[in-house]
Amino acid sequence: MADMLGTDRTWRTYDWRDALSIEQGFAEVSFWVEPRQVMCPIDGTVSVRSYYQRLSGGKSARYRWCPSCGHYSGQTVSVPPPPDFAEPVAVDIDTRLPDLLDGLEKAWCAGLLPQAFM
Ligand SMILES: [Zn+2]
Repeated sequence: MADMLGTDRTWRTYDWRDALSIEQGFAEVSFWVEPRQVMCPIDGTVSVRSYYQRLSGGKSARYRWCPSCGHYSGQTVSVPPPPDFAEPVAVDIDTRLPDLLDGLEKAWCAGLLPQAFM
């Protein structure tokens, strides 16, 4: 049974141009200073959300997703200072990406996200 958050959503990747546009949006004001959403280049809504997952070696997995149109991007990035951030959502590295994105969206709607940066 699908819930109101739309767990039947089909996730699709942003192409590189759209992903670049999103990164430019997040770069305007440091996401670390002001966690927020930016405009989705696909549907024009200000609803692209983010989540960082700490990996080993100073790297993080960075997820961007738009619940409105179901597009996402996921990349491994080096996290610039300040590197310390809360991880309120336990992400199992083996989780299937659609389930992971559904889980992040539920956490966002429940007020657990965006995560805090210190
Ligand atoms: Zn969108």
